[in-house]
Amino acid sequence: MSVVTRFPPSPTGYLHVGSVRTALFNWLYARKVGGKFILRIEDTDRARSSQEAVDIIFAGMEWLGLDYDEGPYFQTQRFDRYGEVIEQLLAQDKAYHCYCSKDRLETLRAEQMAQKLKPRYDGRCRDRIGAPPQGIAPVVRLKTPREGAVAIEDKVHGYITTSNLELDDLVISRSDGTPTYHLTVVVDDIDMGVTHIIRGDDHINNTPRQVHIIEALDAPRPLYAHVPMINGADGKKLSKRHGAVSVLEFREQGFLPDALTNYLARLGWAHGDQEIFTRAELINAFDFDGLNKSAATFDWDKLLWLNQQYIQNAEPAALLALAAPYLESAQLQLDKGPDIAAAVEAQRTRAKTLVEIAEQSHMFYGEFIRDEAAAKKHLRPVIGPALKAIQGKFAAVETWHGTELKDIVEQTAAEFDMKMGKVAQPLRVAVTGSSASPSIDTTLELIGRERCLERLDAALIYIAERAVA
Ligand code: GLU
Repeated sequence: MSVVTRFPPSPTGYLHVGSVRTALFNWLYARKVGGKFILRIEDTDRARSSQEAVDIIFAGMEWLGLDYDEGPYFQTQRFDRYGEVIEQLLAQDKAYHCYCSKDRLETLRAEQMAQKLKPRYDGRCRDRIGAPPQGIAPVVRLKTPREGAVAIEDKVHGYITTSNLELDDLVISRSDGTPTYHLTVVVDDIDMGVTHIIRGDDHINNTPRQVHIIEALDAPRPLYAHVPMINGADGKKLSKRHGAVSVLEFREQGFLPDALTNYLARLGWAHGDQEIFTRAELINAFDFDGLNKSAATFDWDKLLWLNQQYIQNAEPAALLALAAPYLESAQLQLDKGPDIAAAVEAQRTRAKTLVEIAEQSHMFYGEFIRDEAAAKKHLRPVIGPALKAIQGKFAAVETWHGTELKDIVEQTAAEFDMKMGKVAQPLRVAVTGSSASPSIDTTLELIGRERCLERLDAALIYIAERAVA
């Protein structure tokens, strides 16, 4: 039997990073065993679904490289099929029309609660004899076995047994004729040959109900793996309160798709102590045994660390391709500065995100911005003469080359009987505006002669003004 997994998001908003992690597990497993991975858009809730949300799903999947072998299927295109199945279940007496009014159901519920019983439908219409009431549009309920239990083997949680007494006669079709989530998901999984359902453990309570539908349809049962939820640092379910949760927001914030994928794979799944995985390694290593039972905690510091590792280790051309869109959308004059490849390369050891690479490139391509605190600390009158001497030598060099410029800084520091750092740091503040930049030789070379000389002028004026103040 060949393995088929699926990702069935509802297009009702942004693509939550937790959903994507589930998609990733399904994708990894399909890729590992040479199976198929299906994308299915669960858009039956027309009021809450939108094309924009569908596009967000596509964009997120594409960005993360989660390609699918079949689909996208849209549930709204399958209503005829769901109708057919509902009719079949009715004809086989495995389902029945229920005419109970909302009022009756509410009263029943209140009575059961008062008696400290678990609220459930009492089956009045299941046993109804005689003609159906007129003028009432019925729902359709599944005949759930009244005895016994349903046992599910879950790859994460082991056996989960639920007594059938706990389960109602589930509504599978509403009074307006639309099928419910449980029905559509089961019909689709059967029709699409899904063999493994890997989904969040918030669905664990749905599974016995869905198994009853599967059984009523005489279909084979898929294997289940209910993966733990993702919490924020406060132990509450990961939500907007904790920062970005939408996958595309991670893209905006400058995370590399491979870094985010690697991070998500490790959220709730482990393979020994290994933290960094190539995609091929992830595919190879992924297994159900490595899935945790308890909730995972989203750790921003770890994600940033991982992203930094990916930035440091990326091939130069790949990093350039990843960083270029961020530089292009920043307010920079990219044609008035060094080669972008060199600017990106210069930042690879320091930046944690691609956004940081773009921000830090401001010193090469943007208007000068002075960090007042850094200027106050480093641009003191005592450094004025050395900076002036450096400026003179910079103006005179024949070729503008990092190592030679650094030699000049060193020589000048020696002439003024100062340590290299005591000169290089004020120089850095003078030419970049801030106290952090790549190494001084690279920084100077990339900023270029003209900008360096102008900025040194401005720094010398700043220092002179300070001296008289
Ligand atoms: N559309 C459902 C959801 O997004 C799918 C659940 C499932 O995996 O069965 O939660």
